[in-house]
Amino acid sequence: MTDDDLLQSRIQTQLADDAAIETIAIRAGHTRSHEGEHSEAIYPTSSFVYRSAAHAAACFSGEEEGNIYSRFTNPTVSMFEKRLAAMEGGSWCVATSSGMAAIMSVCLGLLRQGDEVVASRDIFGTSSVLFKNYMGRFGVDTTFVTLTDLNEWRSAMSAKTKLLFMESPSNPLLQVADIERVADIAHNADAHLVVDNCLCSPSLQQPLKFGADIVTHSATKYLDGQGRAIGGAVVGHSQAAKDEIYGVLRTTGPTMSPFNAWLFHKGLETLSLRMHAHSQNAIKLAEWLNEHPKVKKVHYTGLNDHPQYDLARKQQANFGGLLSFEVNGSQQQAWQVIDRTKMLSITANLGDVKTTITHPATTTHGRLSPEDRQKAGISDALVRVAVGLEHIDDIIKDLEPGLSSI
Ligand SMILES: *Cc1c(COP(=O)(O)O)cnc(C)c1O
Repeated sequence: MTDDDLLQSRIQTQLADDAAIETIAIRAGHTRSHEGEHSEAIYPTSSFVYRSAAHAAACFSGEEEGNIYSRFTNPTVSMFEKRLAAMEGGSWCVATSSGMAAIMSVCLGLLRQGDEVVASRDIFGTSSVLFKNYMGRFGVDTTFVTLTDLNEWRSAMSAKTKLLFMESPSNPLLQVADIERVADIAHNADAHLVVDNCLCSPSLQQPLKFGADIVTHSATKYLDGQGRAIGGAVVGHSQAAKDEIYGVLRTTGPTMSPFNAWLFHKGLETLSLRMHAHSQNAIKLAEWLNEHPKVKKVHYTGLNDHPQYDLARKQQANFGGLLSFEVNGSQQQAWQVIDRTKMLSITANLGDVKTTITHPATTTHGRLSPEDRQKAGISDALVRVAVGLEHIDDIIKDLEPGLSSI
């Protein structure tokens, strides 16, 4: 080996084929420049230069691999894409400017006028607005079904159904879908199953392994993990689907910036550690709440009386950081629990090291009609906690005064 070859072999990331997800999260996708930098480089550049006119032509036509323009190719963003694809067990990843841009790109890429969508009812509020108000305008109708009811999924299918969309576990009630069975329903109809994997992240669940065709992410949440930036991603296997989704990004431009890609890259490195730590805190809080006399019901997949406890254990490596509970009382008592906290952040965000607390009926689900809210199981007494990484004793201490005051 020449010295140059030797340096090159140290510069390129080398990873065992059977590397664990913790290793993949730290090592995969890293391409070093000739400077040999140890940490991933940020490339803040809009465009790139070529050896010659012929080289430029070859890159633009796709004949030769090379960067073109940062609306659709940037080395820092590509490193993030490669790493996340490897973590999800996918063949490709397309990074986007937000989680909503990821879902929109999937819709614009895979749907045509007259196609139909079947989606679970308790998806992220803005995702249902996208399907109902925006895709609807372009002649794409969506039927909403109960996440856990396979018969509802089946009977909502028509010859026009091209896309099934779900979040599992759901937010804020932590319902769990049987991904394998819903994927079968999709594939029998030649439709794609898209799973929003925001709540678990690839460290706890890899929907592609259970037959999902596409995974979407809001990188804003656990992938970053520290509430610093907005971003999203789409991961999948089918080359045809990638070409469509990448084409949407190239043409319409909801691109991830290299600065944000770098932040998310650093987030991925600690993702598995954080997800298990979030889960450990959440199970302790769920068990404490479960024993509290002022709490009527706790919704958390990690409690063994959860209706899909076994399914969650099968699909997930741990139960995650999100839980919700109903207090003994009405909206006023729920608000009291929230307002008496001193440390917890009153905000609807999730996936942060800082614990957040919110009242779904008047925030995240405030735009639903009272009947739709009831159908979705969001009662006025429901409080949601996205459990962070403060010491669990301090989180419990902050919640106790409000609960005891009921
Ligand atoms: C936040 C969120 C989104 C949207 O992501 P943004 O990055 O805010 O655009 C989509 N799905 C789920 C489950 C989310 O929590």
